[in-house]
Amino acid sequence: MNCTFKRKLPIPKELKEQYPVKEEHAKIKAERDEKIKKVFTGESDKFLLIIGPCSADYESSVMDYVTRLSKVQEDVKDKLLLIPRVYTNKPRTTGEGYKGMLHQPDPLTDSDMLKGVTKIRKLHRRVLAETGLTSADEMLYPDNYRYLSDLLSYVAVGARSVENQQHRLTASGIEIPVGMKNPTGGDVSVMLNAIKAAQGSHTFIYRGWEVESTGNELAHAIMRGRTNSQGQNISNYHYEDLLRLSEAYHEKGLKNPSVIIDTNHANSGKQFLEQIRISHDVIHSIHENGEIRKLVKGLMIESYIEDGNQPVSGTVYGKSITDPCLGWEKSEKLIYEIADIL
Ligand code: PEP
Ligand code: MN
Repeated sequence: MNCTFKRKLPIPKELKEQYPVKEEHAKIKAERDEKIKKVFTGESDKFLLIIGPCSADYESSVMDYVTRLSKVQEDVKDKLLLIPRVYTNKPRTTGEGYKGMLHQPDPLTDSDMLKGVTKIRKLHRRVLAETGLTSADEMLYPDNYRYLSDLLSYVAVGARSVENQQHRLTASGIEIPVGMKNPTGGDVSVMLNAIKAAQGSHTFIYRGWEVESTGNELAHAIMRGRTNSQGQNISNYHYEDLLRLSEAYHEKGLKNPSVIIDTNHANSGKQFLEQIRISHDVIHSIHENGEIRKLVKGLMIESYIEDGNQPVSGTVYGKSITDPCLGWEKSEKLIYEIADIL
């Protein structure tokens, strides 16, 4: 191979021993996992908001954000379950740019994967210990999942990974809900095939082991809009899109038909303020149709402390260095509005 093997990294077990989760926190996670699971099985009618920055860039502002969110969670707990987006590894369309805290624990300096993998575990652990919330992250690299498996409550397989077999098979061995995004080109059948694969049991190679998975019945859809061959963004959160998805779900005979609507990305065309209108639109569809009500389990919203985004070199505290986000004031208002109208 034409690459240098720089150093051996700790295996997940070693990092878990070095930075363990206290028993009382493991209990909080187990309780949250159970509550979230019941949303997907239909036993609970709580609505999920997977909400937070596009990327977890700086520990201080991410902790500040999640702490604010945990206070709101108390107020809306009868209606909503809030899952902070703490996204520590970012897919890049051309491979260039900031790849997240895993690669660059400091966005302004070079990659350091040992520091990175340690820092993301410590960040997710702080979220649980200090706020009682448990986070969502993207499973960009299936082999890395076990570094965080005792901390995460939700995993997304991104639009650029959803057709990949290793992602699908790994998802089939995960115990928490895994959201399969529609691919960037929008083919819903690719997403449904990913769900089918993840819901089945498989034998495969994982971290050098031959493993056998049991299948993940909580694997489900995330609709994030699509980009057409002319580069235009086409949304897929509308009433008709949701009805079509409901029908396709039933035709395929998949378990626990569920969708999360991603209100940013190609659904908003990254016009982050549109996330407010899109959230209201989805909830309107829920009220119009009982099938849609059953199918839509929640929303994914890109939100941070400040509105918009800035270059990676930007110095504004709490402002995204990747996709533009809804600022805290507007986000907080939106969460209360959603709880009110549901
Ligand atoms: C994201 O959630 O920030 C993201 C990159 O999403 P997608 O995979 O839908 O592009
Ligand atoms: Mn994003």
